[in-house]
Amino acid sequence: MKEVLYLVIPCYNEEQVLRETSKRLLVKLSTMIKNKSISEKSKILFVNDGSRDNTWTIINELHNENPIFCGVNLSRNKGHQNALLAGLMTAKDYANMTISLDADLQDDIDVIDKFVEEYYNGNDIVYGVRSSRKTDTFFKRNTALGFYKFMNLLGVDVVYNHADYRLMSSRALEGLAEFKEVNLFLRGIVPLIGYKSSIVEYERHERFAGESKYPLKKMLAFALDGVTSLSIKPIRIITGLGFSIFLISFFALLYTLIVKFFGKTVTGWTSLTVSIWMLGGIQLLSLGVIGEYIGKIYNETKHRPRFIIETILISHEENHKSII
Ligand code: UDP
Ligand code: MG
Repeated sequence: MKEVLYLVIPCYNEEQVLRETSKRLLVKLSTMIKNKSISEKSKILFVNDGSRDNTWTIINELHNENPIFCGVNLSRNKGHQNALLAGLMTAKDYANMTISLDADLQDDIDVIDKFVEEYYNGNDIVYGVRSSRKTDTFFKRNTALGFYKFMNLLGVDVVYNHADYRLMSSRALEGLAEFKEVNLFLRGIVPLIGYKSSIVEYERHERFAGESKYPLKKMLAFALDGVTSLSIKPIRIITGLGFSIFLISFFALLYTLIVKFFGKTVTGWTSLTVSIWMLGGIQLLSLGVIGEYIGKIYNETKHRPRFIIETILISHEENHKSII
């Protein structure tokens, strides 16, 4: 028993929430350490994803006040998924288990005990699943639902209503480290690691300060990345579409020949314009999808680093001040 837990929190311009978040997480972790459900070597690890505000200064202050808080400073903004990965890969060397969560505490931290319980029950991965989406806007709720359905349709195994609130054992993290793709979509990759997993349900709260770093444009890019990095079905659909249109055009050819020889030829302006526009549209769309995949191959073959760590703030003596 008494395994080391690291909470990993990616932060991008989160100066408005960090103080409150750290206060609440400290209470939570200290209680768990006191109850002896986790080791006193457990830590709260913030990853500063190239913030332009005082986020990193606050993380430094927190670390100086109490060594239970640690930090990883990335060389620049790399996005939520890469920042999270940087945190997990750093924590992997020190922790028996990690839990990833957002800096705005939208994920209910009261279920952390349940995650840990599931870990002690022999699960290597525990997915946090939202029991409802009451706090989301109508738009976000429905686009998210559509996204999960679409992913499943494409044969990608995503856990429904699970974002990035999850526990992973060090063994699962070792597995994750083997996935070398530059364009990482954690939600789709983690189920591929395998091992025994389970689910913990929770209520998602509203962000208590600051604003969402996921505007519509980023959300769409994220969804497109998710689809194209996990499934080649869209390309297959295009192939199928091309084949069907070819068949149809064959019949159309027959029809025009019959009309030409046995009927009267009409100047088919309408059908001509419609087919030109439609085929043009389909071709452009297909080229776009194929281009998207080629772009992905281009990015992957360069093997660029997913993140570069500038500073790591972790002190390895025990957290004497952690019990408040
Ligand atoms: N985040 C990050 N890098 C980015 C964008 C976001 O590290 O480029 C972090 C952010 O600080 C937060 C988490 O990712 O801890 C989720 O972001 P946010 O709460 O804005 O997303 P939402 O909950 O609105 O989907
Ligand atoms: Mg949020």
